[in-house]
Amino acid sequence: MTLPDKLFIDGTWRKSATSRTTKLVNPATEEVFAEVEAADISDVNMAVESAHRAWEGGWRDMTPGKRTEILFNVARTLREHIDELGQLEMLQIGKPISDARDEAGLGARCFEYYAGAVTKFYGQTVPVSRGGFDFTLRQSMGVVAAIVPWNFPFPIAAWKVAPALAAGNCVVLKPASLSPLTALKLGELAHAAGLPSGVLQVLPGSGGAIGDALVTHPLVRKVSFTGSTEIGRRIMELASRDIKRVSLELGGKSPNIVFADADWERAAETSPMSVFANTGQDCCARSRVFVERSIFERFVEKFVSATKKLVVGDPAKTDTQLGPMVSASQRGSVEDFLADARKRGSKFICGGVRPHPKGYYLEPTVLLDVGKEDRCWKEEIFGPVVAITPFDDEAQMLREVNSSPYGLSGSIWTNNLSRAIRVSRAVQSGVLSVNCHSSLHVEAPFGGFKQSGLGRDLGMAAMEGYTEVKNVYVAE
Ligand code: NAP
Repeated sequence: MTLPDKLFIDGTWRKSATSRTTKLVNPATEEVFAEVEAADISDVNMAVESAHRAWEGGWRDMTPGKRTEILFNVARTLREHIDELGQLEMLQIGKPISDARDEAGLGARCFEYYAGAVTKFYGQTVPVSRGGFDFTLRQSMGVVAAIVPWNFPFPIAAWKVAPALAAGNCVVLKPASLSPLTALKLGELAHAAGLPSGVLQVLPGSGGAIGDALVTHPLVRKVSFTGSTEIGRRIMELASRDIKRVSLELGGKSPNIVFADADWERAAETSPMSVFANTGQDCCARSRVFVERSIFERFVEKFVSATKKLVVGDPAKTDTQLGPMVSASQRGSVEDFLADARKRGSKFICGGVRPHPKGYYLEPTVLLDVGKEDRCWKEEIFGPVVAITPFDDEAQMLREVNSSPYGLSGSIWTNNLSRAIRVSRAVQSGVLSVNCHSSLHVEAPFGGFKQSGLGRDLGMAAMEGYTEVKNVYVAE
């Protein structure tokens, strides 16, 4: 397999304007396995200008039928390369190969959905009080900058690029420094599938070095960002100068609420993967578990037993459920949280240690007695750590759930229908699941309340977010 190692601009591989490169380390072996050129500010300018030319030069005015056909071709080509995309994802971030392949399929599914959406996305006719004929158009914006993180690199890239293109925009995609390979492959495969040159550019490189130039470029009309709340805030500040459109998918500290009337045994058996999947590096991780007191001890026992059965190890093996963490520094940051928990007297029921001498592995960790003011309770850990706590009173529990500045996801387990509806209404999160741990459907809006974000990815909501509404009034 040849690994992409350059920038993808205007339908071709280009060297960076500087000689800077980023070395990629396989998190399972700690060995450098690739080196990719890093974009510079002049590359940003070239990519944005080329995307703008492609937008003006045809993509925005292409018939919906033709755009649909091209996006379906992209989806088909991605499906033909699922194994390769899965391998690249596994190498660059240590994701277990079965998950990596599934996520490549999810990316292809995004292109299928939005290929179909092109011809089902309409304006309105409006019966205005003066009579005449009033209608709205949904128009593309121009160049969209899509900035994505390393934890789900391929699907998140796809769920930004596909709706933005479907709505008639051109995209400059900036992957995380740790995970440029699948984004670059997306650029190459989409072009091979018929996407015209310049419609999708891929710029690997450091966010610190090129982020400001990309976000503030006058031809960039929208910034679609997924990543940390800290960088999201900076992007919003920069974008505010030109009133650029932004959508932000940020951090989370999601609750998993288990009532005694639920099938709590199933909840306990399935909940470990709701926080430990992707080795906990998941914005939707259910990292705070609230369990009704009457079942608390039995729940914890089952949860811990299910946790101990999780297969942690080589991401290349198809039965591996948890691979290494993405980097030494990410693991170090999680270990700092654990040190704080130890200092504050939390109870470690299992995990918290490095199970292998090589690779950035960390065992899934279950904590009890975590104080409500402790870092592990309040902050996003972004690693395989969960805190479980009992509750007695629904209203008080909900106050604690909603005291978080985040509001991305969450699960509710109950067999009482009224309670399921009442609690779903009360939890301040953008995405909830009842009696399961699903967070995401390509067809449904995904995003957060409060400091978890702004705007929505996926579903038709994402298409709306990549267009401007124009109102036209025609006198009779
Ligand atoms: P991050 O550090 O914020 O980085 C995200 C992206 O922003 C990367 O491509 C990064 O590039 C880039 N970036 C860094 N500095 C920038 C700047 N000044 N201007 C523009 N772009 C800049 O986040 P991360 O560590 O990759 O990802 C983890 C975070 O993402 C967690 O907080 C997680 O909750 C959140 N997340 C949220 C969702 C969601 O849908 N809500 C999904 C996944 C992850 P470099 O890699 O080159 O620094």
